[in-house]
Amino acid sequence: MFEVVIGLEVHVQLNTKSKLFCSCATSFNHKQNSNTCPTCLALPGALPVLNKEVVHKSIMLGTALDATVNRVSYFDRKSYFYPDSPSAYQITQLYTPIVEHGKLQIDFEDGSNKTIRINRAHIEADAGKNIHDGDISKVDLNRAGTPLLEIVSEPDMSSAEEAILYLKKLHSIIRYLDIGDANMQEGSFRVDVNVSIRPKGEEKLYTRVEIKNINSFRFIQRAIELEVARQSEAWEDGLYEQEICQETRLFDQVKQETRSMRGKEEAADYRYFPEPDLLKCVVTDAMMEKYTKIPELPDAKKERFISEYSMNEYNAAVITSSVEMANFFETMMRQEGVSAKTATTWLSVELPSRLKGEVNLINSPVDANKLGFLVKRIDDKSISGKAAKEVLDYLMENADTDVDETIEKLGLKQVTDSGAIEAMCDEIINANSEKVEQFKGGKEKLFGFFVGQVMKASKGSANPQTVNEILKSKLS
Ligand code: ADP
Ligand code: MG
Ligand code: ZN
Repeated sequence: MFEVVIGLEVHVQLNTKSKLFCSCATSFNHKQNSNTCPTCLALPGALPVLNKEVVHKSIMLGTALDATVNRVSYFDRKSYFYPDSPSAYQITQLYTPIVEHGKLQIDFEDGSNKTIRINRAHIEADAGKNIHDGDISKVDLNRAGTPLLEIVSEPDMSSAEEAILYLKKLHSIIRYLDIGDANMQEGSFRVDVNVSIRPKGEEKLYTRVEIKNINSFRFIQRAIELEVARQSEAWEDGLYEQEICQETRLFDQVKQETRSMRGKEEAADYRYFPEPDLLKCVVTDAMMEKYTKIPELPDAKKERFISEYSMNEYNAAVITSSVEMANFFETMMRQEGVSAKTATTWLSVELPSRLKGEVNLINSPVDANKLGFLVKRIDDKSISGKAAKEVLDYLMENADTDVDETIEKLGLKQVTDSGAIEAMCDEIINANSEKVEQFKGGKEKLFGFFVGQVMKASKGSANPQTVNEILKSKLS
């Protein structure tokens, strides 16, 4: 039987205001080729100057990955010719990257975990974009020179599941640190997947295939499964040597296959050499002091939520899975009288089920303060959970109304005044003396009947728990 071996290269676009080596803006959706200057157009004589913010963000990532931040690192030139790169080379860090020897822990559903080693994270410049439009191809250089961090893992993952857990964790760390948008569809979190197989128990690495630029977690999972199947079939058919070679393949989601993009013969000779136009990259003591102080990361936040809010593992994992959700939760909890348990349910179940299409936690019509207030009204028994669903439905459509106004308007205020509920209970008990006798005679099932009658008399506004308590004492 085979063991699967996976190593991942992730290109993260950093969310700096300006480009890596010039002061051009990095923002998207500008007119084509408008965010350009002599440096990122590679005009003769223009020289690059390193953007400090990129170094700061690299230190933050290195810290989060428990890695070594090299106090001195260097830039190298990787030569290749392609229309989207006007200089015909890419500036990257081959020999001494800014970040090395990190690790990242992935957690399995059964509570166990595994540490994936990270070989390096290096700074490099992104290329522009070629836009193919019928018979014409156009080049847009707005993206050329945008800063990337390429994070390279060791080949430590042994299933598609592990690869996805690794990517999701890394993705979440980037978002927690706020060093990149990490939007897969927009290409600010791009993944290259290296896959090989080997007979179980062997240590040696076999030939790897690299699958490029797959833009969703689901597709990555599928691409790995297909590639593993292709390689193991070749092995079983005795065709491994002939069919599996080190090459770049692409994943075709329509045909559900991976196919060769370029083989070893077509592989470029990058003629790497030290970049002569840049100084070495020096990380100062002051930078280390400042940028190793990073925000709380998902694992730490999860542990804190478990102890501070008495959450179970599962809920804590759900709520801390994204920084947006974790922040939303903590804003809700700032409201006095909100219980973590109710807040968790409304944030992880009720709200998401009402967010559709492009609407997410960030632009939700019901923000954290409002949802927190709604939960407060459930917890202080002003409204029932059932009524709260109606209130939330209403609030989703009417963003400028507040919670209490809505409760009032929809007539959903719950009666918690025990005097009023007691009177209703008396009324029901008096009107059903026969059933009271049967109940006292041992027909305990009738309890539900009494609760139902009182609830009905109150038109659903009585607090069910109070009704239960009062009926229990009156009937015993
Ligand atoms: P390149 O730039 O040629 O892709 P890198 O060293 O940047 O090379 O990346 C190699 C990636 O492939 C790393 O993530 C590494 O862990 C992974 N890798 C190396 N050998 C294997 C293998 N035999 N099977 C699977 N992954 C591998
Ligand atoms: Mg590669
Ligand atoms: Zn520029």
